[in-house]
Amino acid sequence: MSERMERARALLPVCEVDALLVWNLSNVRYLSGFTGTEGCLVIGASRAFFLSDSRYATQAEDQVDGFDIRIGSDKIKNIAAALGDLGATRVGFEDETLPVARLKAVEDAANGAKFSGVGKRVDALRLRKDPEEIAVMRRAAWAAEVGFKAALAMTRPGVTENELALELEMGMRRAGATKPSFDLIVASGPRGALPHGIASDRRLEDGDMVVFDFGCVLEGYCSDQTVTVALGNVGEEERKVYEIVREAQERALDALRPGVALKDVDHAARDYIDKAGYGAYFGHGLGHGVGLEIHEDPRLSRVSEFVAEPGMVVTVEPGIYLPERFGVRIEDTVVITESGYDKLTSIDKNWMTV
Ligand code: ZN
Ligand code: ZN
Repeated sequence: MSERMERARALLPVCEVDALLVWNLSNVRYLSGFTGTEGCLVIGASRAFFLSDSRYATQAEDQVDGFDIRIGSDKIKNIAAALGDLGATRVGFEDETLPVARLKAVEDAANGAKFSGVGKRVDALRLRKDPEEIAVMRRAAWAAEVGFKAALAMTRPGVTENELALELEMGMRRAGATKPSFDLIVASGPRGALPHGIASDRRLEDGDMVVFDFGCVLEGYCSDQTVTVALGNVGEEERKVYEIVREAQERALDALRPGVALKDVDHAARDYIDKAGYGAYFGHGLGHGVGLEIHEDPRLSRVSEFVAEPGMVVTVEPGIYLPERFGVRIEDTVVITESGYDKLTSIDKNWMTV
């Protein structure tokens, strides 16, 4: 049995269930190796089933190891039959993922078995990345940077944000990525004050700050990084705000090591920005976990209950957004190590003028 499945099975007694229904595709992939978009797992103490439909029969045979593979056209019936074969009367499900209508259908089909939500316990198996995952994530970060460098080379007044986003995407795909890990953000001038300002038709102008927030998916794993650059002659406040954000990120990174509460890491950056007088303009959390999903646990925020552990991969991304004027965000993705952290992203975050 794989080490991952061993940890999954250890959840059965913890959750007081006989079987786990795993619906979240990232968890399905993590536990079974299946990379398709339709499939679920039913995991019991001694047997485990991988369920999908005929489109994925061949792929499942290739990828899925250690599960009884059952292909069927009626997913609900398939699940109920697997639960029946396990003799499961108490079934755990991912209440963050399984749609209510599906839960009702499975409950109806599963002859009186009792279903209970297990929260994010299955997702939590993915919190700490192993060395192979980290190696893939490093390559994902590198591929995205290939795209960024291509976009940076054509960053000048008159070019549109969309043109830069296209260049970014082509570059990352040429470097081996399968797709961007989110709608690429190229937010220039006043649009930079929109923390999620996806690329638009706006043309860059001399004096803009330009926020590039980009990442790609490579072998299923996501990368995430933000670089803010100055275009030509920018104002003094732009420079000042940039240095505040940079120092805030530095302070957060300095605080990051195993055993530290992630809310304290958020505080390290937030407190610095507050004291510099820009606290009202840093509305979002400091960062998030990254892995098979672009946003996953652990979160770095004021209310995060997570404590840093070696192997966690998180972003550290403070920002200051001045409405209708400009925005600055600086983001790196790092893996927490035994003694601190190691950056997976490598673009230098010192002030850059193009
Ligand atoms: Zn990002
Ligand atoms: Zn991010």
